[in-house]
Amino acid sequence: MAVPCEVQAGQISVRGISLGGVMTCMQVPQYGVMFDVGHCYRSLASTPRLLITHGHGDHCGGLVSMLSLRLLHGQTEPLDVYAPAPIVDALKTVVRSYESIQGHEYAWRITPVQPGDEFVIGQRRKVRVFSTPHVIHTVGYSVFETVNKLKDEFKHLPGAEIGRRKHAGEPIFTSIERTLVSFPGDTTIDVLERHPELLESKVLILETTYLDERRTAKQCLNHGHVHFDQVLERSSAFRNEHLVFTHFSQSYRPAEVVEIIERRSQGRFTPQIHTLTPSTRTWPG
Ligand SMILES: [Zn+2]
Ligand SMILES: [Zn+2]
Repeated sequence: MAVPCEVQAGQISVRGISLGGVMTCMQVPQYGVMFDVGHCYRSLASTPRLLITHGHGDHCGGLVSMLSLRLLHGQTEPLDVYAPAPIVDALKTVVRSYESIQGHEYAWRITPVQPGDEFVIGQRRKVRVFSTPHVIHTVGYSVFETVNKLKDEFKHLPGAEIGRRKHAGEPIFTSIERTLVSFPGDTTIDVLERHPELLESKVLILETTYLDERRTAKQCLNHGHVHFDQVLERSSAFRNEHLVFTHFSQSYRPAEVVEIIERRSQGRFTPQIHTLTPSTRTWPG
């Protein structure tokens, strides 16, 4: 089962689509997470966790479809949904309404989140929730892991000696956090000032709804979105390994997105640049 767009950003893949105002759903299979579900593709429905950024229809309108597809595929494991606390009751009402229409229950559980919360998604991995500036209440998510790093003062020691000290339980390691992927959702550029740690995330998935003079940066700001001009103004600040641009206005054809971003990015960024676009001439649907 194919997905419309896929980007390989180092060790992770980002699969799905993000088309401004139409639909956003992006799976990172390596971490078992899906960011938003404005529409649910069959191949993404089995993702174990869904992280919803905000209540706009193009970001969470596909929740019932996702639950229905899981039922159709015989998946009994409940879908773990995380969503901003203020919209959780409304989402429960939507799902309950469909349960009553269809006469059966869906397998899911929902956890309300707020900025600063953390939850576990694997042995060493966690997700941290942060606030995102947009036109309605929005949160972003960062997947991070904690790893042990040899303290600087022991770095000169030969391997066998490090092994001996480790075995003896000496505190020669310090634990450090590495942010693996971050997704602010729909946002204004201010998110980078509010959360400068996003600039260090190995992979940053960033919306750039408009890419040229079709809208001004001010118009984007008023609608709670990012203009590519604003990203270029800050190009030297990004210390990520990969930058994945998404959520383009449908006034751009996919090939136009690629052409504009490639042309305007040339020689400007340290991170590798990706665009989440299909290889087809038009956007799917
Ligand atoms: Zn959106
Ligand atoms: Zn939105």
